[in-house]
Amino acid sequence: MPADLAIGCSCGSLKGIAHGISGSRVNRFVCGCGDCQPYAQYLGCAGEILDTYGGTDVFQMSPRYIEFTDGIDRIACLRLTPNGVLRWYADCCNTPIVNTFPTRQIPFMAVIHTCVDRSNDNRSLDDSLGSVRARVNSPSAPSESGKWELVSMLLRYGGMLLKWRLRGDHKHSPFFNARTGQPIIAPRTISAYEVQELKKKQDLD
Ligand SMILES: [Zn+2]
Ligand SMILES: [Zn+2]
Repeated sequence: MPADLAIGCSCGSLKGIAHGISGSRVNRFVCGCGDCQPYAQYLGCAGEILDTYGGTDVFQMSPRYIEFTDGIDRIACLRLTPNGVLRWYADCCNTPIVNTFPTRQIPFMAVIHTCVDRSNDNRSLDDSLGSVRARVNSPSAPSESGKWELVSMLLRYGGMLLKWRLRGDHKHSPFFNARTGQPIIAPRTISAYEVQELKKKQDLD
């Protein structure tokens, strides 16, 4: 059954709702890529964000169904490369919130598990979001997905994305100005040197 999911940062300044969420409406996977890891290191809470194999549990949903009710001025935006994905986080306590494409034209949003507020929710993440459909970019993990598992997840996700785009969900993202289509705040790009240093830090963990 779809249900509203409370989201927010860990200190409680930023609060919001992901509306009508269920396993059939989101695409949940674990990403262990070379950008998600230094990002977690940058925020200084890799221990909470990354799992044993350095993966980040995320779920993709339509930006139309996310709403912030408090503390939207706490939202900051970072990118690791000049054209990379936009990584939105709460700068009060460095809680990662979502990743989006740099343009609102693609209604893609990956919500990071740490921003799901479960303080008044006794369901498990599996109950709320369905089980993890794939694990990508984590060669050391025994559960790394095979080719067909990935193809099936990508096809499923591609269908969802097409549906969201055709019904105009890209025009309703809280991260892009509805009139200009620009990000609500200018993203800050960290230097390639800083990314390398964060990757070294990750390797030592
Ligand atoms: Zn906070
Ligand atoms: Zn990643």
